[in-house]
This record gives sequence, C-alpha cells and structure tokens, in this order.
Amino acid sequence: MFDYMMTEEQIKLRDEARALAKWVPRELILDMDMEKIQFPREFLKEAGKRNLLGIRIPKEYGGRGLKWVDDIIVAEEVGVASYSLACLWGVGGDIVAEAIVEFGCEELKKEVVVPLLKGEVCAAECLTEPRGGSDFFGTTTKARKVGGDWVITGQKRFIVGAEGADWFMVYAVTNPEGQDHERLTCFMVPRTKGVETKYLYGLMGVRGGGAGRLILNEVKVPERYALNRVNGGFDVFVRNMIPERLGTSAMTIGSVRPAIEIATRYTSRRKAFGQPIANFQAVGFKVADSVMLLDASRAMVYATARAVDSGKVHHGRVRRMISETKKFVTESAWTIANNCMQVLGGIGYTNIYPLERIVRDIRLSMIWVGTNEVMDLIIQNEWYKECLRGGIEASTRNVELDAPQADQTDEKVFE
Ligand SMILES: Cc1cc2nc3c(=O)[nH]c(=O)nc-3n(C[C@H](O)[C@H](O)[C@H](O)COP(=O)(O)OP(=O)(O)OC[C@H]3O[C@@H](n4cnc5c(N)ncnc54)[C@H](O)[C@@H]3O)c2cc1C
Repeated sequence: MFDYMMTEEQIKLRDEARALAKWVPRELILDMDMEKIQFPREFLKEAGKRNLLGIRIPKEYGGRGLKWVDDIIVAEEVGVASYSLACLWGVGGDIVAEAIVEFGCEELKKEVVVPLLKGEVCAAECLTEPRGGSDFFGTTTKARKVGGDWVITGQKRFIVGAEGADWFMVYAVTNPEGQDHERLTCFMVPRTKGVETKYLYGLMGVRGGGAGRLILNEVKVPERYALNRVNGGFDVFVRNMIPERLGTSAMTIGSVRPAIEIATRYTSRRKAFGQPIANFQAVGFKVADSVMLLDASRAMVYATARAVDSGKVHHGRVRRMISETKKFVTESAWTIANNCMQVLGGIGYTNIYPLERIVRDIRLSMIWVGTNEVMDLIIQNEWYKECLRGGIEASTRNVELDAPQADQTDEKVFE
C-alpha cells in the first residue's frame, strides 16, 4: 500500500505482515513448488499464532475486527512470500471465515471460525465442479433431506487447500425445481465419513497449496450447517465475490511486486554495448510501465476497498468495481511479470531467478475466483444497468445535447 495513505496502526500492521512474509522458510517455498510439500499447514499455524488470519473478522471470533483497507495491506504482503501461500491464507481467513460469520449459526462460528483463525484447522471453498466453474447455477452436487439432516453427493475440483482442509464450504442443489437464486444451499461440511480428497493436478504454478478434487459420497450434515438458510446459497455466493476477488487482487499485487524489484536491480547492473541495459529505453520503459501498472492496480484496489468499507455504495456498483479491479489488476500483473522476465533476457527464463515461478503463479489470477471473461460479463451488465437507469446521466450534464444539430431527432435513427 502507499505508505503516505496509511495510519500509524496500518503501518504497524503492514510491518507485522512483512515479518510473517520474512518468516516463511525458503525451503518451504521451494518444496511446495516441487510438490514435495502438498499442504503447508505450518504456514497457516504461524499466521494464526501472529493473529494475521481473519483481518476483518470480529475480535470475539479471533480476528482483528478491521476493515478492507487494512485487509488489503496484509494480503499484499502475504502475497510477496508466495502466491500459493496467499491463496490459502485468503481462502480460510478471508472467504470461509467471513461466510460463516455473516451467515452461520453461533455454533459454527465457535466450532470453525475460532480454531480456523488460530491456524489449528483449515478450510476450503468449493464451488467449481468437473462440469464447469463459470456456470455456478449449473451445479450438480446434490443434497437430499433425511430426517433432520442433509445427505450430500457430488464432486468439486480445483479446490485450493482440499488436501489439508478439515472443513469444506460446499454448494449443493437442494431445490432442483426452484429458480436459480432459490436452488442451492451452501453447507459447511467437516472431513467426515464419505469425504475424500485427491491431490492430482500437475499445476503450472501455485503448487503445494493442496489444490485437489473433493468427492462427497452420501455425506451427512446437520441442517444447522447450512449457511444463511436452506436454498439460500445464492446470497452467500454473491457476498463471497468480495473477499474472493478483492482479496485476490491485493495478493496478486504483492506476488508480482518482487518481479519489478528483481528486474530493476538486474537491469541496473547488467551491461550490454558498454552500458547498463536500464539505459536502453526499450528496457527501462518496460520497468517503468510495470511500476505504473502496479501503482494503478494498488490505487484501484484501495478505491474499491474504500467503496466496500463505506457501506454506502450501491451493491451493483460494488460488484462492478470489484470485477474491474480483479480484471485490471490480474491482467496488469501478467504484463508486469512478462515485462520483468523479458528484461532479464535468457537468465529470466531459468530458475536462477524466481521470475519463472512468479510468471507461472500469476497466470492463475486471471482464471480463478471467476475468470476474467466472467468479470467482463459482470462489468458490462452492471454498467448498462447503472447508466441506463439514469443514476449517472441524471446527475451530470447531458453532453449529447451539446452538438450543433442535436435537435435533429429525425436523424437519430436506431432501428
Ligand atoms: C489452481 C486453481 C485453484 C482453484 N481454486 C479453486 C477453489 O479453491 N475453489 C473453487 O471453487 N474453484 C477453484 N478453482 C476453479 C476456478 O475458479 C475455475 O477453474 C474457473 O472459475 C473457471 O471454471 P472452469 O475451469 O470450469 O472453466 P469453464 O467455466 O469451463 O470456462 C472455460 C472458458 O470459457 C469461458 N466462459 C465460460 N462461460 C462464459 C461466458 N458466459 N461468457 C464468456 N466466457 C465464458 C471462461 O472464461 C473460460 O475461458 C481453481 C482453479 C485452479 C486452476
């Protein structure tokens, strides 16, 4: 974050998050990338010990009770250590914890959120199915009521943290005949009889974070484990878009930031044609463009965080801002990572520098928590609604009337 915009408390918080990022053993990052480690439980324990999980969760459940403008500071710094660790950090402490605090019963808050934020148990968010992730309403995992319980059967895939999770936040169809927003229920499912996970993907990046397949075979859960209410999963899904996408944006900034620092140091020392290559504008401008994109990304994350924190911004506009931020930041990060690799020349493509890992890791950001094509759909949808319902036009000058022949309405033909 920009230091000059931070309060004293936020600077302290940032430094705590930096200390956590520095604590991460180098071997952990390397072993995760080589998949010698498939789930880094010790990292979550350490983050919990430092009270750095659940930044926005009320203190009574073990969080810090802060706001989004604070959360994004920590997310960025955690991202510096490793994208894979940041994904796990966000899924448990930001996404699942918030859903339970917002929509769960008191028992779940105490039974799951409190140990989750201490790093004693781990959780995963499970939407995507083998048949598709973008089409959320096409979910096929089903739950049927048996006595006072629900029995869930189905499969989810690409679930971050599945390998080590003790709790799974699972969407299942409970009302097949209902309208889209009344068909699904979001259940908290413990690792119990009928739950199986498989670590089976040869991922390009974000390795070692337990991303796997979840198989649910006649898994029985009590009705009180339904978040919000039975058939009320849609509200949880909509609410979760905020931590999924704003959190991802902030941590993506952190994960790509070291690439610029490496590129800056390298190009200042590496010589060609008798001078440091940073002197060639083709090189120095790539670094300059990268810094510009990073700063613009951070500004966007900050503006969106403030919009969410204010509670005063219409939910449609929040959805648009979140989607714009996720798309802009992740596409900028991809450009930055590639710029930085390019200015290192051949050595950037080797594992002498971590740029190749950063490039592999960052690529996920445009795909997960909703692809950037899905972000386009939301931006388009929300912008047209907001603009055409007059919310914007009504309050500003209608420049359409400032053309010399604006009154020639016969010439304004639309069909
Ligand atoms: C490493 C990793 C970790 C992940 N972690 C999680 C997790 O923890 N929990 C979880 O639930 N999921 C997770 N995912 C899944 C991820 O969110 C999905 O992969 C993503 O949402 C896309 O779903 P899909 O792969 O089924 O692709 P599809 O939905 O089949 O989409 C394929 C392509 O079609 C495009 N497309 C689809 N519909 C439209 C449309 N209407 N308009 C325009 N384009 C469209 C998509 O943008 C994409 O380019 C993870 C994925 C990966 C790779």
